Amino acid sequence: MTQKTYQEQLQTWDKQYLWHPFTQMQDYIKETPLIIEEGSGIFLKDIDGKEYIDGISSMWCNLHGHRKKEIDDAIKRQLDKIAHTTLLGPTNIPAIELAKKLAEIAPQGLTKVFYSDNGSTANEVAMKMAFQYWQHKGLKAKTQFVALQHGYHGDTIGTMSVGGIEIFHGAFRPLYFKTHLAPSPYCYRCPLGKQPKNCSLACLEELESILKDNSRGIAAMIMEPMVQGAGGMIVHPAGYLSGTRALCKKYNVLLILDEVLTGFGRTGRMFACLHENVVPDIMTLSKGINGGYMPLAATLATEEIYHAFLGKYADLKTFFHGHTYTGNPLGCAAALASMGLFEKEHILENLETKIQYLQTRLKQFESLEHAGDIRQCGLIAAIELVKDKSTKEPYDWKERIGIRVCLEARKQGLLIRPLGHIMVIMPPWSIKEHELDRLLNIMYESVRIVTQETT
Ligand SMILES: *Cc1c(COP(=O)(O)O)cnc(C)c1O
Repeated sequence: MTQKTYQEQLQTWDKQYLWHPFTQMQDYIKETPLIIEEGSGIFLKDIDGKEYIDGISSMWCNLHGHRKKEIDDAIKRQLDKIAHTTLLGPTNIPAIELAKKLAEIAPQGLTKVFYSDNGSTANEVAMKMAFQYWQHKGLKAKTQFVALQHGYHGDTIGTMSVGGIEIFHGAFRPLYFKTHLAPSPYCYRCPLGKQPKNCSLACLEELESILKDNSRGIAAMIMEPMVQGAGGMIVHPAGYLSGTRALCKKYNVLLILDEVLTGFGRTGRMFACLHENVVPDIMTLSKGINGGYMPLAATLATEEIYHAFLGKYADLKTFFHGHTYTGNPLGCAAALASMGLFEKEHILENLETKIQYLQTRLKQFESLEHAGDIRQCGLIAAIELVKDKSTKEPYDWKERIGIRVCLEARKQGLLIRPLGHIMVIMPPWSIKEHELDRLLNIMYESVRIVTQETT
């Protein structure tokens, strides 16, 4: 078989056998599949040898770029010892070392590490812990959760129950457990119709009234700190997070912070909750945990929560939860190497100049006729495209505006994925200034071209 026909073969098989996540396959099969074969640094290369900037860190998880030597080597070293061994019963070296490391870098007090393999499971674990904590404490009515509109915590049925994105979560509503949704502090489209300048965080008052009326029945509040990712890269106003922490304390409700996206430097701090000196009762981590190499997640809890599960074997207070690949040695070894890079390359110290640079460069987007809102938190940025800036009228879903901008960007060598009509920019932190320039230039041009075609 010649090279050409093999590539065509792969494209055919992809359409024939693969069902892609979050993808309308009827549209997908009309396009030529982009088949990535290799990558290096911030670049991905397809089977034709064409290069693309990885503008969304391979779905928000890659931190140090691809084929990062230190992580590659750590995995190879571990592979020469053992690939997988269970944590149900025995333990293993990388899992122990990583747990210690996570407890050391986490906000003070989060000292117990429970592993799983993805963000959804990390949150399932967190919610089961919170629920059962109150059962063990004798407050058996505390069975419900509070979450935010536009929130996203995963795609399993439990995490969808606390999800707040109507188009993802609406269809499965009959399957969910009871959740109270509080308004999201989405300032560009304030759900309370207020102006951020003088609202005094009225959304916290709404949250308070939910907690006040229902706290007897509420186990925990779960939310994404500082930035709601999949809901549209909604950047929260200062004070919202610390305000939430205070309210949860006041009403005896546990706070679960989902740092699956925001963890490991994405927002400029190791964890987003550090921006407001908030310590949750439970914190969940996944995407960036090992630099985006392989599935791994962790749920961190306080001693207080951990201790509630201790008792005699026959008391059945055990936390009956665990996944087959829990604490996988390869994933943990990669994570340890990633942690090592944070120290060796002074990542958090170096991020600040990059964040500033991104902020300066994003100003250029204000001149685009259809860039309604430009948001940034650390190295996470988003541009909300609107049909009409003055009225904030959104694009019609039928226009597939975000997808069309992405297809244009792809032509120009940038791989991105939209959230509806919201364009996301989230490169690996290791991106250099001139590469960031190229990314933003392509993004700018793609938005300009596609939005002009439409109007
Ligand atoms: C991606 C994401 C999840 C889900 O993680 P998966 O690994 O895709 O299951 C949960 N919470 C947040 C904030 C996320 O961004």
